[in-house]
Amino acid sequence: MSERETRVISDEEMNRQGEYILKLRERFSAIGRQPAAFVETYGCQQNSSDSERIKGMLSDMGFGFCDKPKDADLILYNTCAVRENAELRVFGNLGALKIIKRKRPEVIIAVCGCMMQQEHIAKRIKEKYRHVDLVFGTHALYRFPQLLDKVVSGGRVFDTENESGAVYENINSRRDPIPLAKVPIMYGCNNFCTYCIVPYVRGRERSRSAESILAEVRDVAEQGYKEVMLLGQNVNSYGNDKDSEMSFAQLLREVCRVDGIERVRFMTSHPKDISDEVIAAMAEEDKICKQLHLPVQSGSDRILKLMNRRYTREKYLETVKKVREAMPDIVLTTDIIVGFPGETNEDFEETLSILREVEYDTIFSFIYSKRVGTPAADMEDCLTDEEKHMNFDRMLEVQNEISKRKNMAYEGTVQTVLVEGASKTSEETLTGRTEGGKVVNFAGDRSLVGEMVDVKITSAQTWSLFGEIVYQENALR
Ligand code: SF4
Repeated sequence: MSERETRVISDEEMNRQGEYILKLRERFSAIGRQPAAFVETYGCQQNSSDSERIKGMLSDMGFGFCDKPKDADLILYNTCAVRENAELRVFGNLGALKIIKRKRPEVIIAVCGCMMQQEHIAKRIKEKYRHVDLVFGTHALYRFPQLLDKVVSGGRVFDTENESGAVYENINSRRDPIPLAKVPIMYGCNNFCTYCIVPYVRGRERSRSAESILAEVRDVAEQGYKEVMLLGQNVNSYGNDKDSEMSFAQLLREVCRVDGIERVRFMTSHPKDISDEVIAAMAEEDKICKQLHLPVQSGSDRILKLMNRRYTREKYLETVKKVREAMPDIVLTTDIIVGFPGETNEDFEETLSILREVEYDTIFSFIYSKRVGTPAADMEDCLTDEEKHMNFDRMLEVQNEISKRKNMAYEGTVQTVLVEGASKTSEETLTGRTEGGKVVNFAGDRSLVGEMVDVKITSAQTWSLFGEIVYQENALR
């Protein structure tokens, strides 16, 4: 099969997986109590959406879920290959499971996700982590029931074939609680940014059919979800791999037509591909949140070229201008890599200057992390680790001042907040997001979770806003 070919997994194949689920349900029921699974997810929203599908399959097999590996009958790590830190954590956690496996050999230990799609990693687990029972890559996710059945029948199972091209439907998701539902619209990426491992571990772009996406959105709306996040590595390319499908802008508009859905977000948008049609849909459709994540990565043209980002600083700034002209109050966020190979202090100054020029609400920034198999892994460094860390700290200082100033501009305004749950710090405090995606904390009753409420912003910090509910009787919609 060519790497570009999309292969929709047939209903017949998915039914076969359903039969494995039933078989395993019966098998696990023999332990005389509900089996428990511990599932930990690393990385991006796409991975988190994959975990929701794995949890859906486990629920169908009769599993409940627990918070600690020591209480589990099945332990699964869904891994991320984007940065070295996450990889080290996975290996650390797997090492610690040896003790559990020694005490309870019947516990099933599984690892999946992007890391497992890398040959050297799967090999290392096979040879050095012999207590791991099951390893499978992103392309084999839909086969999880069959693979688990093999493990239960005895023996270790490794399924890390590079079958890029698979698109699968009809897997039950065990979603995070209301109000936000993640809906993948496409998988993979064609862009080959020189630092990024994603095209190698998730394969080339392939879109789900609009029909399946809209059916899933209608389904989550019926379940009470008010907000959907459409996911893809580069949502702007949606449909490019199919001849007759709708464009991303058309899809956005169709999602807005679904009754019950009040907010639509999407992630992620490559700056070179965002079209006027998408900007117009965002500006015209009330349900599309006025928030845009537009990863710039660097402010230096020389580095953008080395990264193979295929836009210049000038072109990027033109896009920002266009977006702001269409939506003056848009909340803009971005990603920055500090210390990319070849970056000098002059290049870094360019990045600081683009932060000052655009004034993002928030940035997600990382020091460059070498990924085996990508072109950037063989490029020469110009800066020392110490210089990279100093630049990183300087950048945070610049951005924190901007983020705080932007948040303070909300003080005294009334924002419509979709309530997500209790805040992490106190049961009496609720937390939710504005249309722009800003986190707001305020006092309120738990019964408001999943509702839209109007909140007057009373104070602001760098990362969040604080407020109080106004017009409570009228605020429920
Ligand atoms: S657009 Fe670039 S950074 Fe994003 S997933 Fe694709 S290759 Fe990676």
